[in-house]
Amino acid sequence: MTNSHINAVARASPGVKIGNSSFKIPVISRPVHKYRILIKNVVHRNSPRTKVVCYDPKIIAVEDSTLWLEIKEDIRTLLDNLYTENFGHRVYTLKDFTLRYFASGTSLDDYNSTATFGNIWNETIKNTGLCITDKAVKIRTLEITAFVNYPVISATADQEDSDEEFAGKSTRKSAKRKAASSTLGTSVNPDNLRSKRIAVSGPGFYLTNITPTNVTETAYMSYKTECIISEKNVRWIRSEAMQIYVEQEKIGSGKTKEAFKIRINNSDDLYAGKRFYYIGDGSFTVSKEDNDKHLHDELLRQKVAQKGLEKFNNEIRSNKINAYDIRIADTFLLTVIGGEDDSLTWIVDPLQESFTVIKLSGTNEAGNNVDLMGMTCDAFAHFSLYDSSETCVFVDIQGIQGKSKIGGRTQHGNTLTLFDLMAHSEKKQMGLGDKGIDGIKEFKEQHQCNAICKQLQLPETGAVSNNSAGKATNIDHNSTVQSKGNNGSNDE
Ligand SMILES: [Zn+2]
Repeated sequence: MTNSHINAVARASPGVKIGNSSFKIPVISRPVHKYRILIKNVVHRNSPRTKVVCYDPKIIAVEDSTLWLEIKEDIRTLLDNLYTENFGHRVYTLKDFTLRYFASGTSLDDYNSTATFGNIWNETIKNTGLCITDKAVKIRTLEITAFVNYPVISATADQEDSDEEFAGKSTRKSAKRKAASSTLGTSVNPDNLRSKRIAVSGPGFYLTNITPTNVTETAYMSYKTECIISEKNVRWIRSEAMQIYVEQEKIGSGKTKEAFKIRINNSDDLYAGKRFYYIGDGSFTVSKEDNDKHLHDELLRQKVAQKGLEKFNNEIRSNKINAYDIRIADTFLLTVIGGEDDSLTWIVDPLQESFTVIKLSGTNEAGNNVDLMGMTCDAFAHFSLYDSSETCVFVDIQGIQGKSKIGGRTQHGNTLTLFDLMAHSEKKQMGLGDKGIDGIKEFKEQHQCNAICKQLQLPETGAVSNNSAGKATNIDHNSTVQSKGNNGSNDE
């Protein structure tokens, strides 16, 4: 890459790629047929006569080479967004809905996932008048109806397809009787009611000590540090030296850190690198050593949280609990080697498209959110308390909402990427903001269990004496769950 090209890239607006003028890619033209899929109607499969009033017909643009699997995945995302927003119900997999021709009611589920839209279109127009109207053929539009497995009915209830059901003639009384409440976020899948609680991972899973790193000076500009946590050890893995480009203008700043845009080597991938400018000691200058130490703490904290979150997400998915997808960004450190800024460190993760940060809870106040995203974060905080045998709890939960692409159009998805998590831990091992046992106690007093906590069978936080915070052995996880208000023993 020439210097002038690097300069051009540096000057370009974010996201704009500078073409290399000496190359011209030959264009091979091939006729592409474009079609539209019109999802004309959405039906609650287990309550077909209830009109889904919130639904506006949606169109997905496809080509003859588009895979049926891809199309179904787009439709799933669309249905997932619709049902999450309006009914607090997740459409997690392709098995959670079925598709039929709008005109005939014939199932589209027999088409193989590897079929292309071209294959399906050719099959469809053979049966003009049955599966599709002449008008729809003319405007190359496939009109379909989506049936979503909702409301949730118990596994024993009859879930067989029937043409009667499609025609909306069946009363399906048994299904109705067994249908769970459709109030946002409160629907309980009866399959979730298990007799066994989740096995506790214990304090070792959450609390680890930071191993000091030795800085070795090299001729390169920067190195990358990754953190890997095993059962009892923390390993800090340092990369070979690499060139990084940090934009001078910061792209944002929070209460304690400011963020910069970073590129690594010659890749066009963009990262956000954050470093401290304030650590709560009254001074607005932070030494490189303090910055580096606190960023190591933070990386470790993110990795510990990631481990807990993996377990949380597994429980959510395997028990089909309606919850938001929460994840933690893949984070690492970059440290400058040599020159004036030697040892300057940033904590780095992939730059998110959106900068809108959603705050779900504070350091000193547990969240009591009522929407699915917030409830999931609150339940995760409670889960971390439970799963660590009450030695640790994640607080200050905030994140950036992810986006999903449907037929080339971007819309919001049901994913929240968390960052800058803080934690309170028994032995104050979680770095900045860790208020120790007092913080844990505060969380327990403030947290109110929501539908997700209940489906995970987490014991209510008010149910155990505050004095036992941190003394894992004193907590009986099978003790009778009492409501907060009735537990007078909380007062000290
Ligand atoms: Zn709870």
